[in-house]
Amino acid sequence: MSIELRSTTKNYGNLTAVDAIDLSIDDGEVLCLLGPSGCGKTTTLRMIAGLESVDGGEVLIGGKPVNGLAARERNVAMSFQFYALYPSLSVAENLAFPLHAEGLSRAQIKAKVQETSRVLQLDTILDRLPGQLAEGEKQRVAVGRSIIRNPTCFLFDEPLSRLDVQLREEMRGEIKEVLQGLSKPTVIVTHDQLEALTMADRIAVMRDGRIEQVDTPHSVFSRPANLFVAGFIGTPQMNLLPTTFTGKSSQGQGEFRIDEHQSISIALDDSFNGIREGSTVTLGIRPRNLRLLSEASADSVSLPVELIEPMGAETLAHLKDGDRDLRVVTDWKVPLAENDLVHAQFMPGSVHIFADNEQRVTTL
Ligand code: ATP
Repeated sequence: MSIELRSTTKNYGNLTAVDAIDLSIDDGEVLCLLGPSGCGKTTTLRMIAGLESVDGGEVLIGGKPVNGLAARERNVAMSFQFYALYPSLSVAENLAFPLHAEGLSRAQIKAKVQETSRVLQLDTILDRLPGQLAEGEKQRVAVGRSIIRNPTCFLFDEPLSRLDVQLREEMRGEIKEVLQGLSKPTVIVTHDQLEALTMADRIAVMRDGRIEQVDTPHSVFSRPANLFVAGFIGTPQMNLLPTTFTGKSSQGQGEFRIDEHQSISIALDDSFNGIREGSTVTLGIRPRNLRLLSEASADSVSLPVELIEPMGAETLAHLKDGDRDLRVVTDWKVPLAENDLVHAQFMPGSVHIFADNEQRVTTL
């Protein structure tokens, strides 16, 4: 019972909120739609649910086009958070609540409550009230309420956004496990990258109504397809340093000019092809992949320290000179002082290279 979007489009007047996106989500797969505010995540989810009409392309559920079906006829479970339990109803009554409108017999309702509570390991607490539950149990009951109708798929819009930080951390892992066990497709909208990285099997990164990359959490982090994804995923943010490509040495080293005083030499792989000498190339390097050296080297950049931010076990240093700036994360023990000139080495094998069309050019 997969979900498939084919060139799916939504316009609001002149604004194309969702612009011909293609996406498919398989049984048991958790896909997170991730992106900045206004990029079209919720609109995409609402089109799958049938709460928003589709202006172009198709939505298919279980291989069948559902564009013409109302929300009720699609039998999807859409929930805005995992956390709305009725405090005066027991766990069993909370679970049974969505079934009352379905005209089932008492025995049928009981059987469904039993089945769901078995899957979610709630059997021993069916008589308790929400106030008597641990937070994790409450969450499982809320998930249970979404799944008890046996919907074709699960759609969640920012499900953890109302939880406090600690609970959110606890729930991320647990929810992934529960959803994967249900063998239905799940789509979760979030703007929180940590949530997406921990809960998703795959992440679709969106910008301005388009999908920039769909990939595993590991791949969107380690092999961002373009500058936008590179800058969006990962904290502290990846450094993106504009340079001019000046040529490749016979040993396969690429030379990149940073400004009139500095160049940097980076080992290139075979995929670095078709880049014209003199063109603008952006070097991407994560702050944890820069190493501070005592002396400058061919693969380092020298900049003064502008600001030092202690982060406990690590220190975040901002190096800045005019337009150029780099963020470096070091061990807290590394001695650093503001205004020191430091040499930040681009650690081999961890440089991401983007051409002037903003697309990744290395396979790394
Ligand atoms: P957020 O995280 O802020 O909810 P989002 O990625 O979910 O953002 P959407 O809510 O899908 O984004 O909105 C996408 C674009 O469509 C935004 O520019 C928004 O202003 C616009 N939009 C959404 N709903 C409507 C509507 N009913 N009428 C007009 N414009 C809308």
